[in-house]
Amino acid sequence: MYDVVIIGGGPAGLSAGIYAARGGLKTVIFEGKIFGGQIVTSYEVENYPGFSKGISGMDLIDNFMKQAEKFDVETNYDGVTCINDEIECKSVNLTNGNCVKTKTIIIASGASANKLGCPGEKKFSGKGVSYCATCDGAFFKNKVVAVIGGGDSAIEEALYLSNLAKKVYIIHRRDQLRATKILDKRAKENKSIEFILDTVVKEIQGDKLVNGLLVENVKTKKKDRIDVDGVFIYVGLTPNTEFVKDLIKLDENGCILTNEEMETNIEGVYAAGDVRSKSLKQVVTAASDGAIAANNAQKYIESKF
Ligand code: NAP
Repeated sequence: MYDVVIIGGGPAGLSAGIYAARGGLKTVIFEGKIFGGQIVTSYEVENYPGFSKGISGMDLIDNFMKQAEKFDVETNYDGVTCINDEIECKSVNLTNGNCVKTKTIIIASGASANKLGCPGEKKFSGKGVSYCATCDGAFFKNKVVAVIGGGDSAIEEALYLSNLAKKVYIIHRRDQLRATKILDKRAKENKSIEFILDTVVKEIQGDKLVNGLLVENVKTKKKDRIDVDGVFIYVGLTPNTEFVKDLIKLDENGCILTNEEMETNIEGVYAAGDVRSKSLKQVVTAASDGAIAANNAQKYIESKF
């Protein structure tokens, strides 16, 4: 029987692991994909306190992992298919068919990149369509790329791509960006970036590889073709809550509802990070959520077992 089962190995899960294990709790993190979550795709994190020169998402997670290992957090690459609230304890079912018993659960399963859903997206995935500029940007050195979306992810990654590609189009469906002002300003001042606003992508076109986009202006309804070699899609995130939706209360966007103590509607089950319903989704807030969840899991165990 574990004291704490943490589901998800991103900043929230790793932070929860560090706090729980350092508190002497028998702790395991299940991560069915890659440890680190979305942040490993970030070329540079410049707003995580303590790293004044910035740090890559990969290096930041490497530090989180080393710290978790130092406190003997068990890590496991099995995914979790569902969680159960039993009379004596909780349990989680794993993708390998096993069921693991635990006193508490911290759900830190994060969120996944949304698809655009237009023709050509699936066909050219990995053939010019990408969801990770840090991973695939190097393939587009001196080429022309488009970034779809107007949020922080889109603008940050467009800025990264502007150092590699000869031209970066940012295609956004409105005339205002959602991204923070500092990113907005930097992108608008960048000579390699051109904005195409009020515009949606109708089709991603190509032969063997992507060679263009069919776009439509949402106000004038005018259609155009833009020649591009690659397209990077950043149109928001969907919380990974499918596996808990029968037991845990979610908001209208599918994010887990908690109070400030990270408590869900089930006693002894906590949520932390981007999977949670909250206003600011950042590495620093994910790490903070994880610490609070682990601390409250410890208090719950002390009072119940
Ligand atoms: P986001 O903030 O939800 O932005 C998604 C963008 O995609 C929006 O501009 C949205 O347009 C657009 N969009 C959504 N669906 C679309 C569709 N079907 N077709 C065309 N465009 C579509 O997502 P995100 O940028 O991935 O950021 C997620 C969270 O992580 C946010 O809280 C963000 O602040 C945070 N984040 C922070 C940093 C940082 O601080 N360094 C970096 C990355 C992400 P509308 O604006 O019209 O809705």
